[in-house]
Amino acid sequence: MAGSSADRGRAGSNRAALHAIDAIEPLKLRTGTPVWLGDGARGMSAAPLRADLKVDVAVIGGGISGALATDALLQAGLSVAVFDRLGFVRGSTPASTAMLQFEIDQPLITLGRRIGHARAARAWWRSASGVTRLRSRIADLGLRCDFRERHTAYLPGNLLDLAGLRSEAAARERIGLRSNLIDRHALMSLTGIDKPGAIWSAGSAEVNPVKLARGLWRSAAKRGAMLHAPVEIIDVAPGERWVTLTTDADCSISAGHVVLATGYSLTKLFKLPGYRIISTWAMATAPQPKALWPSRCLIWEASDPYLYCRTTRDGRVLAGGEDAAFEDDARRDALIATKVARIGRTLRGLLPQLDIAPAFAWAGCFGESASGLPAIGQVPGAPRCYAVMGFGGNGITFSAIAAEMIQRAILGLPDPDTDLFRLA
Ligand SMILES: Cc1cc2nc3c(=O)[nH]c(=O)nc-3n(C[C@H](O)[C@H](O)[C@H](O)COP(=O)(O)OP(=O)(O)OC[C@H]3O[C@@H](n4cnc5c(N)ncnc54)[C@H](O)[C@@H]3O)c2cc1C
Repeated sequence: MAGSSADRGRAGSNRAALHAIDAIEPLKLRTGTPVWLGDGARGMSAAPLRADLKVDVAVIGGGISGALATDALLQAGLSVAVFDRLGFVRGSTPASTAMLQFEIDQPLITLGRRIGHARAARAWWRSASGVTRLRSRIADLGLRCDFRERHTAYLPGNLLDLAGLRSEAAARERIGLRSNLIDRHALMSLTGIDKPGAIWSAGSAEVNPVKLARGLWRSAAKRGAMLHAPVEIIDVAPGERWVTLTTDADCSISAGHVVLATGYSLTKLFKLPGYRIISTWAMATAPQPKALWPSRCLIWEASDPYLYCRTTRDGRVLAGGEDAAFEDDARRDALIATKVARIGRTLRGLLPQLDIAPAFAWAGCFGESASGLPAIGQVPGAPRCYAVMGFGGNGITFSAIAAEMIQRAILGLPDPDTDLFRLA
């Protein structure tokens, strides 16, 4: 089945917006074995697509963004079919260190100077409510994904020194965010780190991203979502009432709406100004529960590039950073040993009691925007097509925001933050 001939005619005129999805060289999203895949857990099963299909919403992408969007669309009573060219939870999501932070990469005071203080406050608040939304969906669906609420410690660095952190903490407190400046003594007793102070915040969390995404997909399948893989969408043609998608096996899908949750491949489709793909590295140590810092908070630095670290349920330390502004995956992969050694040394500089030998090491790519904000919303020139892109260090939090915004857009409901994240 497909759209009407009027739809097909209209589709032709709109092809410039989204055509030739197949001409895009797929990005190698990650290399090495992320800690979450180390237990040999079985992957998600999904069926290939053998016939044409008609559905309310087609979601392209089987990662965390697609999973959260699908969950929200099912909640709205819509029929949903999902397609992934690799398989479900096989892209960037398993590479994630999955710190669920409300803190955006750009400090509130910096973002305020860039986009205005009222808009920056809205972005930070929306991010905080993104983490809250994730927590409540995980609880509502009863997902067992090692979710734990955590504080964060934001350490001084080359972007903000202690005086800068003081201004940042004051700006956050003024708009009611749960952050305050702590001194050297408090930081030492919470983390064992010897620095002059830090911003201490409540309201963040950690999770196992593979268990979370697989749990969401299993729940979606039980609630009627049609999951298809491996299926590559090679063409998206928006029409007046239907969007027509073509697959690599030449099936045709007619959808009332399309959600592009294709992760960092998307920036290759839409060359948005200010967005770029960068490379990043991460490692996990062996379990060492006795050596961990007392609060087990999430730790990151006001630096560029920054180091970040967290603990896992089984007592490992996960650390990442060393980001570099290139997307050449061969170069990125050749650097795994060097970059991970550097991450380990920086980690030991902060927490000398740790055994920093990597039990897992991996590399991935990251989408980054100049403002640190995501791009979520209707694709310009492509009615009924929505995209989720431009994620920085808190991509999963942004995926949760995107799910809510795209659900509202498809239902024709207003969202107060459409202007903040629009694709433009
Ligand atoms: C090392 C690392 C550490 C990170 N740490 C954090 C962190 O601590 N906290 C945080 O919030 N975020 C973090 N992130 C970012 C976070 O992991 C990502 O934002 C998130 O996983 C992106 O999910 P996604 O679903 O958008 O993309 P993906 O998981 O990549 O899923 C997209 C899917 O779309 C499919 N696809 C693409 N094109 C097509 C097509 N044409 N047809 C069919 N399928 C297609 C791909 O096969 C892929 O499976 C980290 C990322 C990395 C790499």
